[in-house]
Amino acid sequence: MSCAPVDDGPSRDEAMLLTWLERHDECCPVCRYRLQGIESARCPECGTDLRLTVDSSEARQGAWLFAMLAPALGMGFTSVVAAILLVAVTLERIQQGSAAIPWQPVVIFSTMLLLALIDLAVLMYLLSHRSNFMKRPVKARWKLASAWFIGVGLMHLAAGITLAVVL
Ligand SMILES: [Zn+2]
Repeated sequence: MSCAPVDDGPSRDEAMLLTWLERHDECCPVCRYRLQGIESARCPECGTDLRLTVDSSEARQGAWLFAMLAPALGMGFTSVVAAILLVAVTLERIQQGSAAIPWQPVVIFSTMLLLALIDLAVLMYLLSHRSNFMKRPVKARWKLASAWFIGVGLMHLAAGITLAVVL
């Protein structure tokens, strides 16, 4: 069944909001002005319209998007580096007319490809476990998202350092 809000008319909604704000110490969601005791459904500080809503912490996407950010950035970065390298090495070979492939670009290309595949696997894992992730409390979500972000970041850092040492 779809959900359509029941329209009780502006006056009743506003009265409920003002009653709520008499009893609760809430801040304006836009400017953080304290709303206790205001007399209309409008923030006196920034003028934003205010209304009572039903909310769910499960609908808050911040931590989830943050968890997805690291593998998405990583995959984008490594794919671009791998593609540039492939084009550069191919052009060089064509210009020099030699059949020999220098090993350093091959190692870098393979590493970037491997990292991109791992990033893709992490993204797929996160996507398939989204509902488990969203069922956690918001704080636990941010902890988990930070762990993913740091983990993926460290993996790329370790690969970069290894390449720098080996090459
Ligand atoms: Zn405000």
